[in-house]
Amino acid sequence: MEIKKVELPPLPYKYNELEPVISERIMRLHHDKHHLAYVKGANSALEKLYKFRKGEIEINVREVLRDLSFHMNGHVLHSIFWKNMRKPEENNSPGGEIGDRIEKVFGSFENLKKEFSASAKSVEGVGWAILAKDEENYLYVLNIEKHNLMHIAGFKPLLVLDVWEHAFYLDYENNKASYIENWWKVVNWDDVEKRFKE
Ligand code: MN
Repeated sequence: MEIKKVELPPLPYKYNELEPVISERIMRLHHDKHHLAYVKGANSALEKLYKFRKGEIEINVREVLRDLSFHMNGHVLHSIFWKNMRKPEENNSPGGEIGDRIEKVFGSFENLKKEFSASAKSVEGVGWAILAKDEENYLYVLNIEKHNLMHIAGFKPLLVLDVWEHAFYLDYENNKASYIENWWKVVNWDDVEKRFKE
């Protein structure tokens, strides 16, 4: 088989569309530089494995697989993150089936916000807060370190929030809590609903 490669997806909106919640400057750096670096890192690991299988190079398999996990998860999560957002709206809240499911599992949207925001704020160093579902459509809030640690196998991410400093520092400096609070305005609940139903 041909070598597997991943590509940087275009943003589904303009770089300045999320302002004032997330600035054009951050979006340009975050998408064009940071996400691209994960794409390149994932492709580099895939290429090493491809050449290793053909007998062309020797590699430290564990090291390459660790790189693959880090960069591929970085690529996948950022790809979801861009689609999870849209133009800011005040009083932005989920409707439809995902809205009902959130009420059932968490008691209310406010409860989900509280648990998810607490997860985001408490990420140690770099990581993500994630709303995910299992095969029975039960919902979970996850607390991910880096891009790849503390996932639960087979759980599907529906809504992801990047809390690496590169995601907010230029706009919010060290005020991560304010970034998280504002971010709820740009959540694209239609996209979350779509991922929930898929
Ligand atoms: Mn990021």
